Amino acid sequence: MDRAFLFLPINRLRVYITMNSHYDSPMLKSKIRYVLMDLRYKSKRSEVFFYFVYLFIDFFRKIKKHLMRAKVSHPQNTICALPWTHFYANEFGQNFPCCISPDTRLPNMNSLGQKFFVYEPGHIEKAWNSGYMKDIRKKMLNGKQPAPCEKCYKMEELGGISHRQQSNEKWQGHLTQALKTTQPDGSAPFKIYSADIRLGNLCNLKCRMCSPVSSKGLINEWKRIHGMPEFEAKKFADLDWFEKPQFWEMFLKYSDDLQSLHFAGGEPFVIEQHFTFLRRLVESSKSHRISLTYNTNLTVLPEELLTLWQSFKSVQVMISVDGLEQVNHYIRYPSNWSKIQHNIQHLHDNLQKYRIEYLGFNITVQAYNVFDTMKLIDFLTTQYPHAHFPNLSLLFGPEELSLQVLPEAMKAELTLLWNLFIEERKAAWVKKARQPSEAQTLIHNAQAIVEFMNKKDRSDLLPHFKMRTKAYDASRHQSCANAVPELASLFPDSRPPTP
Ligand code: SF4
Repeated sequence: MDRAFLFLPINRLRVYITMNSHYDSPMLKSKIRYVLMDLRYKSKRSEVFFYFVYLFIDFFRKIKKHLMRAKVSHPQNTICALPWTHFYANEFGQNFPCCISPDTRLPNMNSLGQKFFVYEPGHIEKAWNSGYMKDIRKKMLNGKQPAPCEKCYKMEELGGISHRQQSNEKWQGHLTQALKTTQPDGSAPFKIYSADIRLGNLCNLKCRMCSPVSSKGLINEWKRIHGMPEFEAKKFADLDWFEKPQFWEMFLKYSDDLQSLHFAGGEPFVIEQHFTFLRRLVESSKSHRISLTYNTNLTVLPEELLTLWQSFKSVQVMISVDGLEQVNHYIRYPSNWSKIQHNIQHLHDNLQKYRIEYLGFNITVQAYNVFDTMKLIDFLTTQYPHAHFPNLSLLFGPEELSLQVLPEAMKAELTLLWNLFIEERKAAWVKKARQPSEAQTLIHNAQAIVEFMNKKDRSDLLPHFKMRTKAYDASRHQSCANAVPELASLFPDSRPPTP
């Protein structure tokens, strides 16, 4: 935590924590955020008191983390294929070991503590065998847990399947090879087999649960509604590193061993530079051995992209949808449902032609769509039989949009509806699924919704949910009561639907 924290006024502090909460101890910071919001009109002395309470808790948390990391286990429990095989660039063009590690806020740095920015000449190569990466590899080989990977080990401790375990399964062959040539100092051959590139924050949507890290379109609302300071706004407005031709030139040079290439955003389907790069891969005859994977909102589907895909080994498309028709439009504003539906249908009808081996959906389950998600699951599983069953991701932050804020009576109604829904659909899902695991995952995820919703009562955040909803509604000329009638009772003063 930097010292600027102490000197930020309360409103700025709230934004500071909000913008950074996904990096470091989100629960703790989130709690402090709301304590500070309530204290906004109270004495300055309380602010200082809470700041020192934070420092105190943070200190003990760090000691606990340090002791856990020092614990030596078998290398098999710590090694991960990705530091030997993978290249990752986040929305800011910073390098981390993979997409899971940015939450630790520990980017790859040189010996002077300077971050590597993948668009700077020579940085990709230097980042591969930096002291930071060598240290990660050495620690893993010695059965220790490197700090930038703590989320994976934590997930395993909780009994979940980590990204480390999944990656090891996928890249076992390359890892075995790379380990043979790893030097005692942790240096490894510079060979990129898989890459994950987050193409900044250029997106054509302004989803309610997102921040300007993922969409430039949210900057103005964040300035107005969340009081985001001008210097932060400028940082997000200037995020255009992926437009630099020098990055793509360098990356093309390093793509001789590439087998898997993932794009997310922003919205990759509106980013011209990504098409140009695919074209270069086709021209250089590298495309036929590369599998492409995407996270997309599928509001657009450029013809050129579909043509390019046909020259690649395979394509996997994960489509983010959060509701049917008006609900999707309300959350993933200003998306057009019929356009999305048309695009899904087109991909679904041409899987072979476009070399699509995986077509799936991700639903971010939150207060706005918890009623509608049941209808959406029914729609997706019946309308698109060749697609995978939808993945249900629970929304944890911003906390005021999570299921846990809903009032008790509404939760009771939802519990009844969801339990009934699961019981009624179970058998059909098992029958329809191409693999039993697909149906099991959907059942498990659906049950997790009910469990998570009832696990904690955060109705203390309901006023914040209402405040946030009304502020966005006013800014977008929308009405929650109209878009999600099941939530209308929370907004008794809202106008009746326009005929
Ligand atoms: S251990 Fe986890 S966080 Fe670390 S590189 Fe592997 S997948 Fe990423």
